[in-house]
Amino acid sequence: MGKHTGFMEYPRKAVPYRDPAERLGDFNEIFTAPVEKKLKRQGARCMDCGVPFCQSDTGCPIDNLIPEWNDLVYRGYWREALDSLHKTNNFPEFTGRTCPAPCEGACVLGITDPAVTIKNIENAIIDRGFAEGWVRHERLQQKSGKKVAIVGSGPTGLAAADQLNKAGHEVTIYEREDRIGGLLMYGIPNMKLDKAVVDRRVDLMREAGINFHTNIDVGKNFDPDELRNGCDALLLATGATNPRDLQVPGRDLPGVHFAMDFLTENTRSLLESNLQDDSFINAKDRDVIVIGGGDTGADCIGTALRHGCKSLVNLELLDQPPTERATDNPWPDWPMIFRTEYAHEEAITRFGNDPRSYSILSKALSADNDGRIAALHTVGIEWKGNSGVQEMVEIEGTEQIWKADLVFLAMGFLGPEDYLAEALGVALDPRSNYQAVYGNFQTSVSGVFAAGDCRRGQSLVVWAINEGRGAARVIDQYLVETSRLTAPGVTMDTAIG
Ligand SMILES: Cc1cc2nc3c(=O)[nH]c(=O)nc-3n(C[C@H](O)[C@H](O)[C@H](O)COP(=O)(O)OP(=O)(O)OC[C@H]3O[C@@H](n4cnc5c(N)ncnc54)[C@H](O)[C@@H]3O)c2cc1C
Ligand code: SF4
Repeated sequence: MGKHTGFMEYPRKAVPYRDPAERLGDFNEIFTAPVEKKLKRQGARCMDCGVPFCQSDTGCPIDNLIPEWNDLVYRGYWREALDSLHKTNNFPEFTGRTCPAPCEGACVLGITDPAVTIKNIENAIIDRGFAEGWVRHERLQQKSGKKVAIVGSGPTGLAAADQLNKAGHEVTIYEREDRIGGLLMYGIPNMKLDKAVVDRRVDLMREAGINFHTNIDVGKNFDPDELRNGCDALLLATGATNPRDLQVPGRDLPGVHFAMDFLTENTRSLLESNLQDDSFINAKDRDVIVIGGGDTGADCIGTALRHGCKSLVNLELLDQPPTERATDNPWPDWPMIFRTEYAHEEAITRFGNDPRSYSILSKALSADNDGRIAALHTVGIEWKGNSGVQEMVEIEGTEQIWKADLVFLAMGFLGPEDYLAEALGVALDPRSNYQAVYGNFQTSVSGVFAAGDCRRGQSLVVWAINEGRGAARVIDQYLVETSRLTAPGVTMDTAIG
């Protein structure tokens, strides 16, 4: 522990985002550069609580050695902090920017005071590591002779590839998009995670010997049997890409889009032409409605604002969460509370009010004389019953009509698309994800494994890394019987990655 009294001396001070009015003018990252002296103080707030719940099963899903690197940062041992961080996390620059930080929700200091700024410290360690040239991926000379194919290049596929490459296997990733990264590339917008940050890591992995193939849609333009027969193990890391639809009259009107179409096209155009090629859904001067909250909804808001939308409304079916933990949501569980994310803050700056309305059910979409979307019809609802079984009841007299030129559907995802599972004969579970038990990751087809969002449903980057690391260890064992790869919940003295 760095400083015994640090948590009493220093208040929590998170690294601030850029001023909303300024950052709305570009798609650059929202973060400001941290100040080293201030970060060290935040590290000093970690109080050596003895039982670090930040690392427990309600805290960091990849068992990051948080108190250890907090202390190293406080004492100025940045390189050692980086080594400690890389023991459990292949990509701290992704989690350091995008993770909602369940670790902070479980921080023991958080029982009485604001939690340690763990995520900021993690991000600063890795950014310093890159700046100093300390981040390397080794190319192994001694190979196992085994081949592993991975379908999908999101954080799950990337984490598994990184681990399996360290174990000496020949790893090839197949990705249907034109760029590597899954939702890190086309999903999470540039202002939350700069795409150069994704490319930087992929380039290092490529140099370390991992093969990447883009524009290969396995099951559509590439035969899955050929893939299966050409490798010793196959990992499906295809994500939960099947969006939940809105089953209401008018759904097919021009101007109604899935959120992912909006976000993907925007990032592609941004990367290819700085939004000059006109090949994206442009919200400029439009009345925009985003249906659904969560990360996807917030990212649609942030993107539409940067285009210069005329107005913005965000509708959510669920009730507004409480501002403080409810009694059935105690520490160290993830606090289910009302949060104002970067995009909400920006909307307030632009329009003077929070765009979110809760407990609203979308009933129909209607068109103007040209047949384009013109309005959304809704009704207020009430949730009745206990938290186990809840029933939605419409409230008479709360009908509303909202003006809309563009409607984005951000209502979650229903597992992976089905064509690859069908082609390989892989069984699905009742939630339409690939069926495979967590920790074992074996599907119903021998030698075919599944991990990440395609197995667990839409989740988080940190859980994708968790599952990618876990699946890599199991695949390594399948190929060579014993594994020296670590994984969440598995540590060893002779670990190689
Ligand atoms: C808009 C949005 C914002 C988000 N923001 C955050 C955030 O801020 N923080 C956070 O922690 N999480 C966030 N998430 C969730 C997080 O991005 C995902 O949980 C994570 O990326 C899942 O990783 P994955 O590797 O399992 O799948 P994905 O990242 O979805 O990657 C799957 C990849 O597989 C490819 N693929 C699918 N089928 C095939 C096929 N047949 N052949 C070849 N390739 C195929 C896809 O093209 C895709 O690239 C967000 C999600 C969305 C949608
Ligand atoms: S990965 Fe997420 S949960 Fe783990 S230490 Fe980083 S911010 Fe916290």
